Amino acid sequence: MKPLKIAIVGAGPAGLAASLLLTRAGHATDIIERFDKPAPVGSALMLQPTGLTVLESLGLGPAIHAAGNRIDRLFGTETHGRIVLDVRYNALPGGRYGLGVHRAALFDTLHDEVSARRHPVYTGLRVVGVVEEGSSSYLSVEGGERLGPYDLVIDASGARSELAAVSPVAPRVRNLVYGAFWATLDCPDGLVDQAALTQRYDKASVMIGVLPIGRRRRDMPRQAALFWSLKVADADEVRKRGLDAWKQTIRGYWPECEPLLEQITDWDQLTLARYAHRTMKTPYSGRTVFVGDAAHSTSPQLGQGANMALLDVAALAHALAGHETIEAALSAYAKARRMHVRLFQLLSLSFTPFYQSDSSGLAWIRDRLVATLAKIPPAPQILAGIVSGTLVDPFNGAGLRECDWLRQAMPQPS
Ligand SMILES: Cc1cc2nc3c(=O)[nH]c(=O)nc-3n(C[C@H](O)[C@H](O)[C@H](O)COP(=O)(O)OP(=O)(O)OC[C@H]3O[C@@H](n4cnc5c(N)ncnc54)[C@H](O)[C@@H]3O)c2cc1C
Repeated sequence: MKPLKIAIVGAGPAGLAASLLLTRAGHATDIIERFDKPAPVGSALMLQPTGLTVLESLGLGPAIHAAGNRIDRLFGTETHGRIVLDVRYNALPGGRYGLGVHRAALFDTLHDEVSARRHPVYTGLRVVGVVEEGSSSYLSVEGGERLGPYDLVIDASGARSELAAVSPVAPRVRNLVYGAFWATLDCPDGLVDQAALTQRYDKASVMIGVLPIGRRRRDMPRQAALFWSLKVADADEVRKRGLDAWKQTIRGYWPECEPLLEQITDWDQLTLARYAHRTMKTPYSGRTVFVGDAAHSTSPQLGQGANMALLDVAALAHALAGHETIEAALSAYAKARRMHVRLFQLLSLSFTPFYQSDSSGLAWIRDRLVATLAKIPPAPQILAGIVSGTLVDPFNGAGLRECDWLRQAMPQPS
């Protein structure tokens, strides 16, 4: 493939990683971001062996490990103390683990590299459309400006992508009923198992979680993300009842969270995250290609979204390197990601109502049947494959070799 001039819409994890991978392959990129100052949205996330492998391939493994916290286990109990979820990465051989990170840690790691390499980033520009003229594409920007010409446009503008909204290949995005309040707080020693994402449930309507995310910078204290699931439509009512009432509800379920709750003195410390679900069957149209949440978004129940975004851009760069025309490369990209994306979108859609819904029946099945079956092989191995994002091979189609986790393993948190 001859060097291309590529527009990347959105400076999230997908857009920034795409720029790094594609310039390394000899292409020229422009990143166009709607915000005046690109910044991470939200609180924390889990990087899985899939996303970590992409970051390692970019030479960013040490930086992200330094800013995150190793997670070996997902552990959840219901109100009576019954263990409902106990998924361990080491149920499969190979030494895999996850990494809890502040969103800003992932953003800074990618953005620092993009800045160091002087990739052009144009901010304060909201892209509202793409026009193809002959073999060139132009971006229409709010206010009437036109950017281009480009050989290829990558839409990395997230779950509520405006380009996807008007694309013939994108089904409508479906807003999910449940979302969550998220806060990033200092995490005193001994509060929770630092090597676990710990959750408490009451039926499927209450889910509280604590994800240790380490120190974003060396001079900062250890932090954790606290999240509390709720119906988005109820958020105003919850706010109206007051912060103390909300904190009292959490104390009722999880009194040990008090040192975290003490730090919350204002609703502004809590971000209301809304989730949406959409899976594009064909993630490209003409010479516009969709990656990350723009192509497939879902609830973060399985903690895969950012990881899938990183896999997408690795697969796209690999496809462009291996084909002579853009059309052939986009078709190869779609094929390389199809199976993995569809499987994990389906799994997320199926798992979410067990943890975020009004159904007492599904919660009963989860607490009694699934919790018991999950202990019987090969269920622990399958669950480890699901959280790792490796239930089907995600690496080959993206031209990646999985990290050697045992050799470069990050020490377990004390
Ligand atoms: C609360 C929460 C928890 C999550 N937890 C996890 C987890 O544990 N693990 C995981 O892997 N994933 C998780 N996810 C999902 C993950 O955050 C997303 O999958 C990931 O951020 C997708 O990256 P992206 O680059 O595709 O999109 P985004 O991160 O949404 O970035 C899109 C960028 O495009 C810009 N943009 C949007 N529209 C325009 C426009 N018209 N013009 C120009 N720029 C535009 C935005 O400002 C933004 O900078 C979670 C999500 C939420 C909400």
